[in-house]
Amino acid sequence: SGLPGDPERGSGVRQVTGAAWSSVMPTPVRAPRMIAGSDEMAATLGLDPAWLSTPEAAAVLSGNRLLDGMAPFAANYGGHQFGHWAGQLGDGRAITLGEVLDPTGQRWEMQLKGAGPTPYSRSADGRAVLRSSVREFLCSEAMHHLGIPTTRALSLVVTGEDVVRDMFYDGHPEPEPGAIVCRVAPSFIRFGHFELPASRGETGLLRQLVDFCIRRDFPHLRGQGDALLSDWFAEVCARTAVMVAHWMRVGFVHGVMNTDNMSILGLTIDYGPYGWIDDFDPDWTPNTTDRQHRRYRFGAQPQVAYWNLGRLAGALSPLAGDAAPLQAGLARFVETFNQAERGNIAGKLGLDACRDEDIGLMQDLRGLLREGEVDMTLFFRLLGDVDPGAPNPSVFEEAFYSDVGREGIESRLQAWLQRYALRIVDDPLPAEHRKALMDATNPRYVLRNCLAQQAIDRAEAGDLQGIADLQAVLRRPYDVQPGCEAFAARRPDWARDRPGCSMLSCSS
Ligand code: AMP
Ligand code: MG
Ligand code: MG
Repeated sequence: SGLPGDPERGSGVRQVTGAAWSSVMPTPVRAPRMIAGSDEMAATLGLDPAWLSTPEAAAVLSGNRLLDGMAPFAANYGGHQFGHWAGQLGDGRAITLGEVLDPTGQRWEMQLKGAGPTPYSRSADGRAVLRSSVREFLCSEAMHHLGIPTTRALSLVVTGEDVVRDMFYDGHPEPEPGAIVCRVAPSFIRFGHFELPASRGETGLLRQLVDFCIRRDFPHLRGQGDALLSDWFAEVCARTAVMVAHWMRVGFVHGVMNTDNMSILGLTIDYGPYGWIDDFDPDWTPNTTDRQHRRYRFGAQPQVAYWNLGRLAGALSPLAGDAAPLQAGLARFVETFNQAERGNIAGKLGLDACRDEDIGLMQDLRGLLREGEVDMTLFFRLLGDVDPGAPNPSVFEEAFYSDVGREGIESRLQAWLQRYALRIVDDPLPAEHRKALMDATNPRYVLRNCLAQQAIDRAEAGDLQGIADLQAVLRRPYDVQPGCEAFAARRPDWARDRPGCSMLSCSS
């Protein structure tokens, strides 16, 4: 890799200083069985999708067998968790097998999540349960098909071994089926990779890591010294802004935006207790351990991303001549986010371009959606069906979660729709283009929490069809797919307070 590795061998838990990674072997599992695969990801890697069904694939993608040229390692990084510096974290259960060059020359790192202990496992077991692995597998591919930068998932293997978790933190741990996802990305480098050597005063290692990352993951950046550092940091900021703006567009809540879960490439990474907005509530978070402070609530994600970039800037400051280039990067985040958010507003409302007054139009709408407990995904999809000649709130019937909510905002929604209708009439976009733009911005199908949970319940009972069905429908999230109405429906009442559907623990 060109980066210093840890000379110690084995998976024994330790502090790893002066090194960016430790070589470590996956721990074999008893009976690996492939239960889902991404044909698109396989094809991208230049693999025959049929290979995924072979015993060799189950062996390799569970860590039981290495292919020639694989040199497995776990990465060393730190992070700010819930606002506090947490020291060394590292890949506690992820093991990179190696890199693949696809037929176009793009590099992909292949990483097994749940492949056994590493030097970074601390007190944990290095394993992953089926429920969290299904969630990571389905959501990373769903995000990709939504057009959102993300790490990908190639495969989902059950290990044939139990993993013990205390899902409710009630002192009653229970065995659950274990699983391993093979995730794939051009790079798994996180903000925390840079924070750790910076925190230890390892400026030489920090410098090497930055040089390596720019050379490998940002090869288009030229220049030298402060100018290069500045261009690079600005691009990281811009990519992060674009990613978070996408999350806000589709109602995705990451749930654990710690700096160790922030990708240097601006990819959505670490699918833990994430969730999707059903009724539009900017204060909502799926993460039960964050229910008190709600640091990582939906509406706070842009500010949190900015704060995280500030931590990265701090880590890079020993390399910068002065603060100006890093300040400029942070300013770039704000500019890029605001621009992307204007794009979201135009796309979601079906406007040729977002005018200044449209920001207020959207803000007022969001206030109504929140107060009226309106389903975000359904509402924006239905908004495309509004007739500007005769706008009528009854179009949105199925998007409301309660009669009280509907009655409470009905007259104001009617007034808002009249404003919107006037705005549309004044917009240069032809009606058919408007509808197409809205349908390409507002997905019809997202991985609602209760849908993922239903697929998990079925998989735990041995029925894999739920995973396959969701995978299929989420491949084309913007297209109306006949027969798939159930996947577009609002959250059922029973799912409101059911664990896995509205609340997720970090236990995974
Ligand atoms: P996360 O909250 O998923 O970002 O995880 C935070 C840290 O805990 C990372 O360093 C993970 O590698 C580590 N970790 C999480 N679960 C496990 C596990 N079961 N075994 C070992 N390390 C883990
Ligand atoms: Mg993580
Ligand atoms: Mg995680």
